[in-house]
Amino acid sequence: MMPRKIVYGANAAKEFQYPENSLIITTTTPDIYENWLNYMGIKKYEVYDKVTPDPAIETIEEIKRKYEGKEISTYIGLGGGSSMDVCKYLGKLTGIQKILIPTTFGTGAEMTTYAVVSFNHKKKLLQDEAFLADSAVVDPYFLPGTPFNIMRNSACDALAQASEGYDSKLANPFTKLFCKEAFEILEDAIMNDKQELLPYGAMLSGIGFGNSSTTLGHALSYVFSNEGVPHGYALSSCTTVSHKFNKSVYYERFKKICQKLKFEPLTLKQSLDEAAGVIMPDRGHLDNNPIPVTKQDIVNCLDEMVNKNPLQ
Ligand SMILES: [Zn+2]
Repeated sequence: MMPRKIVYGANAAKEFQYPENSLIITTTTPDIYENWLNYMGIKKYEVYDKVTPDPAIETIEEIKRKYEGKEISTYIGLGGGSSMDVCKYLGKLTGIQKILIPTTFGTGAEMTTYAVVSFNHKKKLLQDEAFLADSAVVDPYFLPGTPFNIMRNSACDALAQASEGYDSKLANPFTKLFCKEAFEILEDAIMNDKQELLPYGAMLSGIGFGNSSTTLGHALSYVFSNEGVPHGYALSSCTTVSHKFNKSVYYERFKKICQKLKFEPLTLKQSLDEAAGVIMPDRGHLDNNPIPVTKQDIVNCLDEMVNKNPLQ
């Protein structure tokens, strides 16, 4: 599955015809998104800009209530994964069509049937056909000016998704084709400083892992996210140790890219045993891992991350 319409390339977001009475959902501030909206040439729209990273279900319900009866024709998710996830969940609740426009290029969320939403301060990975975008617009215009931290976290997420997706038990020759190509493009982008390749790599990663799944690396990452570590940052260590555990063909290459991006080791406030207890019920990721994972395996992976340096 992928969006009905995918528009990619220079000026894609400028040339796209946006329906009137759209509601734009974004995590950014007016000084940034006003330039974006000018570029897009969109007319007659509303903006909701109070979305925060790791959006909560309460925020989504608040937006639904706020715009009820306002004849919103389309949701436009403009920003990183959080803006798009809110848009996806809203679309499922109301049946209103959605256009997803990534600006940080990493999650590949514009391509997938996944959404991450927080319930009681815990991030939950949801999957539903109704989350799929009607249109995805991928335009490298949004890339320049992205702060280094956001760029490297996004790139790391895209690389983790491509390589975990390749190894996933749900992978098939079609999804592997996308994951493999995505990893190679993203690796070239980082190792050879060709950042302009990131949007295309992230998009292919989204198609690949979106039709298979991520695995142990992502499962491990959520305990760090719950303690405030950005998703992509957490994956630098989490996916490295999980690739080592799985004997992934991507282990060395993924680690080298993380070294080039200068990621530091992670810390954890809760005990390893407690964290492993939180990770174990995440069957959506763990059941698709190429090798069965026990609670002790998870404790060992966490130990390697917080007491040693897996990126050395
Ligand atoms: Zn991810």
